[in-house]
Amino acid sequence: MFPEYICNLLATVRYPPWTKELNWGLHMTMYGEERIPFHSYVQPGTTSPCFPGYISSMPQFSTLPVELQLRILSFCSACTLFQVMHVSSTLRIEASKLFWANPDAYFQVEAQWLLDGGHPGGIGCDLPFLLHVQNVEIEYHRGQDSQICPRPDEVMEVRQELITTLWRSFKKRFPNVKRVVVNKNWPTRPWRNEIESVSQELQILFQYCPLAVEAFAFILEEENPTMGTRNSDPSIKKWQRSLYRRSAGDVWTRVATGRRHKTILMPMKHFHGPVGGFERLKYKGERLLLQKYGLWPLSLEALDRHYFNNEKHKSFSCPYSDCGGYFEKAGEWTVHATKSHAMDWRMGGRFCILPDELRVVFEERERVLEGHEKEVGTQLRKRINEWNEEGVEKQRQIEREWMEQLENDEAWNMGKTARESRLWREFVEQMEFTRHG
Ligand SMILES: [Zn+2]
Repeated sequence: MFPEYICNLLATVRYPPWTKELNWGLHMTMYGEERIPFHSYVQPGTTSPCFPGYISSMPQFSTLPVELQLRILSFCSACTLFQVMHVSSTLRIEASKLFWANPDAYFQVEAQWLLDGGHPGGIGCDLPFLLHVQNVEIEYHRGQDSQICPRPDEVMEVRQELITTLWRSFKKRFPNVKRVVVNKNWPTRPWRNEIESVSQELQILFQYCPLAVEAFAFILEEENPTMGTRNSDPSIKKWQRSLYRRSAGDVWTRVATGRRHKTILMPMKHFHGPVGGFERLKYKGERLLLQKYGLWPLSLEALDRHYFNNEKHKSFSCPYSDCGGYFEKAGEWTVHATKSHAMDWRMGGRFCILPDELRVVFEERERVLEGHEKEVGTQLRKRINEWNEEGVEKQRQIEREWMEQLENDEAWNMGKTARESRLWREFVEQMEFTRHG
């Protein structure tokens, strides 16, 4: 992992006191950012009893004055509110309002999907879900700066029609949105030497964002930027994540450093038919990868807890050779490993620093995830074989089935004819590429 992403990792790892079991469902991007699948977000913790259970076992709750009931609800976690929405008809409306308004949770969507027009077929999550969402995080990737504001010959052009498309799709798909944060998790190119923290491209993008929506930019920046850093080595710079808010007159103010909000992955759509069956493989593969990346920060925590927990306090030396690190308190190792060894992190063999009893647990978990990945690969291979080895008639049949679904199934509408749909083109490309490749 590159040094600029260590700040993300520091926000993802868990610190003592550890009150919960290891989170085996941890999802993390390759840039160290945590992603929380919706089902985990609303899942009751194993250590804290869930409030709705109390409602049924505590009949006096419903006899409390309504104002008091609502006051109690306002202290409830997202998971509890979600449960209340499903068990109590009297509190459903109030719980629902609080659940969707939670200022700490943002539901994630890709900028590219919005730039492409926000068509139902271009997204793997459940579209009706989006109608309720009030806080949206737009994942803004490298390359999107030059998409919306290309700089041929170093002079910036603004592709206004593309920016308008993004915000039009955004408003259409999230009609109840109140807040948006654009997540730009990469440094603006150092040779630009811009003075403003929020890059020019992002500022232009936000100029078209509806004013009624509270707008934030969550950026990666140097802790202490100095002028003339043009040639300095990125590995000796210190990086941080900062949240900037747009206020009147397009003025940007830093309102927080570090990550304060959770990024939630929306529930997946129902993948059915030939198109859904194929697309499901892509989205499933992405989620599995996030879980594999999550194993590394999880292993750091596991090692820390191996030496320091409620009963044990056992000092230990850094398991990386040639490192003099020595840890006498819970949490020291986690911080040290994140700051000093994130660059040693590799996808394979990274559990060799763990003692045997932990190593086998992590290797087993990794094997399980790889087993699921193999299953995805097998499913894909099956389709490729069908396409390539069962004759022209079979290909025509698959094509007919795809065309029929693309023409009639709104869930896979891409705003184009079935034959011009990107989904169909990508499917054929993959079938053909693998045959030749
Ligand atoms: Zn070390």
